Amino acid sequence: MLELRDIFKTYDNQPLLRGISFSVSQGETVCLLGASGSGKSTLLRMIAGLENPERGRILFNGADLAQTPTHLRDFGLVFQDYGLFPHLNIFDNVAFGLKMRNLPTAEISLRVAALLEKVNLTGFETRKVTDLSGGEQQRVALARALAPRPRLLMFDEPLGALDRTLKESLLQEIRAILHETKIPVIYVTHDQDEAFAIADRILLLRDGEIVRVGTPAEVWSNPGSAWAAKFLDAGNVIEGKMQNEECGMQNVVTAFGEFPVNCSHKHAAGDKVSLLVKQSGEGQEIKFKVEEILFKRNQFEARGAGLVFQMDKAPALGQIIKVKVEVKCLA
Ligand code: ADP
Ligand code: MG
Repeated sequence: MLELRDIFKTYDNQPLLRGISFSVSQGETVCLLGASGSGKSTLLRMIAGLENPERGRILFNGADLAQTPTHLRDFGLVFQDYGLFPHLNIFDNVAFGLKMRNLPTAEISLRVAALLEKVNLTGFETRKVTDLSGGEQQRVALARALAPRPRLLMFDEPLGALDRTLKESLLQEIRAILHETKIPVIYVTHDQDEAFAIADRILLLRDGEIVRVGTPAEVWSNPGSAWAAKFLDAGNVIEGKMQNEECGMQNVVTAFGEFPVNCSHKHAAGDKVSLLVKQSGEGQEIKFKVEEILFKRNQFEARGAGLVFQMDKAPALGQIIKVKVEVKCLA
């Protein structure tokens, strides 16, 4: 198990990471999700031993890694730009780490064949890296990272350079391979869709801190803050003011009317709160005037008064529409 305890890092007097703590269990894929520049790659470099934290500890199975150099950590890394060796063929790329470890030739051949089968590239052994598509190159990179049987695998925006359709199919493939190998994984991305598709657990990074942790379903249904809800595009966020409490429900007054919410936070009457308003088949109703309509595949997106909802049928501009919503207090 990998464990990070209270990691701090500063660049140019600016705090980048401000007390990062989390752990990754055997067989678990943890996804670190954060905007560009939020320090994700820096954190991976520290785990890999390419950089030192200013404060905090990194442990593996209880042992502190501070004195363990990169090549003795047994961690694998997969980057966005594949990092394959262009002058070597596919077999030699995957075999690279095994040759470095002086494994017998027969075993290397067996392992490379098994890995190429795993990533669906059997028969590609003698091909050149430059003849492969981006998706194929990334599968070679995954096979190469898995070859030495690392104790931990790290992905740094591995699908960033690929188009959407390819991304989706490759994500499913990677997910299946990771669950089969049972290696603990840290997967870093700025793309919410990618994070939700691959993660067992999501860590949401903001301003150097982890602001929300949970399974994709948990984080999606309750982002925990207005910022997180907006970042994840988890629904509409509206502002309101707490009014009175009745039978355990709090009434919140908003520009769209009054909504009763079942809220576990401690609020006093008059407190400003943010509400997450999600489209749902049943529940309360919200009403707004359509100002803009966007065509989205087999749906229409109606926008107005700062709200966005998906409609099966195209509304008319200027039309007042009512949408059934689920309303949650964010904080
Ligand atoms: P992310 O991977 O989330 O996009 P990075 O970890 O690459 O973020 O970097 C975050 C910020 O940290 C960068 O925008 C940069 O300002 C700063 N940074 C990273 N590495 C260095 C460095 N070696 N020297 C100075 N600043 C750095
Ligand atoms: Mg990065």
